[in-house]
Amino acid sequence: MERKTRVRFAPSPTGPLHMGGVRTALYNYLYAKQRGGDFIIRIEDTDSNRFVPGAEQYIIEALDWCGIIPDEGVENGKVVETPSERHPHAPYRQSQRRGIYRKYAEQLVENGYAYYAFDSAEELSAARAACEAEGKTFIYNQFSRMKLRNSLSLPESEWRPMLESRNDWTIRFRMPENTIVKMDDMIRGHVEINTDTLDDKVLWKRTDELPTYHLANIVDDHLMEISEVIRGEEWLPSLPLHYLLYKAFGWEDTMPRFAHLSLLLKPVGNGKLSKRDGDKMGFPVFPLQWVNSEGEVSHGYREDGYFPDAFVNMLAMLGWNPGDDREIFSMDELIQAFSMDHVQKAGAKFNPDKAKWYNKEYLRSKSDSELADAFIPVLSSKGIAVPDRDWLLKVVALIKERATFVADFWTIASYLFKAPEEYAEKDVAKFWKEENYSLAFKVADFILAFDGEFSKEGLEGPLEDYIRGNEWPMGKVMNCLRLMLAGSASGLGIADVVTLIGKEEVARRVAAAKAALC
Ligand code: GLU
Repeated sequence: MERKTRVRFAPSPTGPLHMGGVRTALYNYLYAKQRGGDFIIRIEDTDSNRFVPGAEQYIIEALDWCGIIPDEGVENGKVVETPSERHPHAPYRQSQRRGIYRKYAEQLVENGYAYYAFDSAEELSAARAACEAEGKTFIYNQFSRMKLRNSLSLPESEWRPMLESRNDWTIRFRMPENTIVKMDDMIRGHVEINTDTLDDKVLWKRTDELPTYHLANIVDDHLMEISEVIRGEEWLPSLPLHYLLYKAFGWEDTMPRFAHLSLLLKPVGNGKLSKRDGDKMGFPVFPLQWVNSEGEVSHGYREDGYFPDAFVNMLAMLGWNPGDDREIFSMDELIQAFSMDHVQKAGAKFNPDKAKWYNKEYLRSKSDSELADAFIPVLSSKGIAVPDRDWLLKVVALIKERATFVADFWTIASYLFKAPEEYAEKDVAKFWKEENYSLAFKVADFILAFDGEFSKEGLEGPLEDYIRGNEWPMGKVMNCLRLMLAGSASGLGIADVVTLIGKEEVARRVAAAKAALC
């Protein structure tokens, strides 16, 4: 029987989700939705030392903003804590599943795949120091384990009572000796490794009665019937252990398939894309803004004005291609087109200009009405009352081609909403000459006296004819007019500006400029 596709995104709430993490979630989501499968979110919070308050909520809000909606694990923005028809595997937070794991770890001990280890922190540091003194690295493995204190090296009469009397023991995986682990990765193909290079990882800790990542991850993937594990390549070194754990539990038949995604790389140079690159070059590496416990603010795509669909489209293309040169995909189109065969093995270089390009493309494709709605809060933040709807739609239609972000509307056209408060010094020095502005005043009079249809289409031709007919220098006159009306010599066409602000306002601005500049 064909197995139902069930994939999971399993973040640890250790801070804000990096955009690489969002991409992992996205690829899981696309993979599941294409197959009519389930996308599950599981919070892997068994390492309490790395727990960061607010991180879990951040992750869920970020995925929600991107439209990556889980089938299981989260409902109404909260991680589900009690099983139900829709969420049969709850709780989805590993710290709430702590009671589940011990028996699995002990089952491994009983079957000879794991053992109890009683080395205290001091003993382990001493062993580490002794190795380092000889120029070697300490590894808890087949070569050192019999010299350490565990249920393999000590007689049972000695170790068994310690299970009761001490609370600092662990259960470690007994890595088999000189065994080749043969693994398959959906992106990287076949991989083999000899177990002699691997260590005896801790699986469960008595101190906090919690599993480590490896045990919890395998047990939960099994219990949650995960069919494919799609995750970052930083987990590739753990794959042999995970394979061996499936084998040790006797779960090989239902073991998921694995796909390890390559890293997102910095725009310049080599290496992983980091927050520092973002800070240095002025782009966000997080989906949403994040404020850490020291009050430091990290940029987020959302707050920087990116559209979630543009961000998602851009992310999808970082490491995947559709096999042709198409670049614009909605979420539904991505679901259709996504294929693991076209996920690249090599790291994907992030290009902040491409992120902006995507936003510009999406902005242009949005309706004037949607953009007007998004612009109103920007206007309010500048103290501008909500303008007449039809008028605002005209403005948006006029300026959207020039903008990358909705906030750019303000930079491009603030003078349509309020009179300029100053005049660009450089432009004044360059263009504000009597021989030009005297003509510009005459043109302003022509505009104010114009009795045809006062619209861009109605005015543009007659205005140009008037200037040309008088053989006045078009560019110089227009620059002076723009200086008076917009505060700088660059900007929108004069016929657009004057018909949008209206004759009264034109008259006011011309008078104000005259007073200020002449
Ligand atoms: N909790 C791991 C992480 O934070 C999950 C790794 C996995 O998907 O197996 O990335």
